[in-house]
Amino acid sequence: MKSIFTKFLYAICALLICVSITACTNESRPKSLMEKILKEDKITVGVKFDARPFGFVDENGELQGFDIDLAKKIAKNILGDENKVEFVEVTPSNRIITLTSGKVDMIIATMSITPQRANVVSFSTPYYIAGQALMTPKNSSVQGLTDLKDKKIIVVLGSTGEKSIKHFAPNAIIQGFRTNTEAYNALKNGQGDAMTTDDTILAGFAIGDPNMKILPKRYTQEPYAIAFRQDEESVSLKTNVNHILEHMRNSGELTRLKNKWMNF
Ligand code: GLU
Repeated sequence: MKSIFTKFLYAICALLICVSITACTNESRPKSLMEKILKEDKITVGVKFDARPFGFVDENGELQGFDIDLAKKIAKNILGDENKVEFVEVTPSNRIITLTSGKVDMIIATMSITPQRANVVSFSTPYYIAGQALMTPKNSSVQGLTDLKDKKIIVVLGSTGEKSIKHFAPNAIIQGFRTNTEAYNALKNGQGDAMTTDDTILAGFAIGDPNMKILPKRYTQEPYAIAFRQDEESVSLKTNVNHILEHMRNSGELTRLKNKWMNF
């Protein structure tokens, strides 16, 4: 009889311990991404490593660019220190999965707002407007879209340019590459007649290459925005970032960033 009572007492004690452990764990688990960022004292951001002048590795091996400065500004505002950012490399084709799988808190990677993407991620307000353009070797006879018939056009997989060129130049032969650098190298090596993506990114390659030219026409508007997950936990982070962007817009800081990185 005594041992049944003791067992019952043990069971009650075990139950109480479980309940209190669960309560404690729940209490210390961050309820939002903002809370997690504050607790861990760092923000994890997906950026490009090869999209000069937005996200690129410079001659000293340092990550630089418009998007990098923007991430540092956000860290400075939220955590009081621009260095409290961990950068993770993303490409156009893996940036959404990198975000939705939880590897990063946000994406700042020359990412245009599109209705399809807005179905799976949540965008900040835009911070820059680029435009889709064509880049060709200087001696090329390609002057515009109509000259692309039966010619090879180089695109970056997962970019807006990949989608829209199918519409703008339906008779062109599309050659897809995983990254901007691979696409640019392919153009340089004669694997295509032209490359298309945002004018910003093409300019980053053309500036250091006297053998390339960017054609004057722009075919789209590409509003760059920061992407967040669509879950409840990301809402307060997105609200904070939108406030930071609004302040940067009103104070002229976004224009200063534009002048710093786009003065060519
Ligand atoms: N801004 C375009 C896009 O979001 C092209 C550049 C890029 O892929 O990052 O697809």
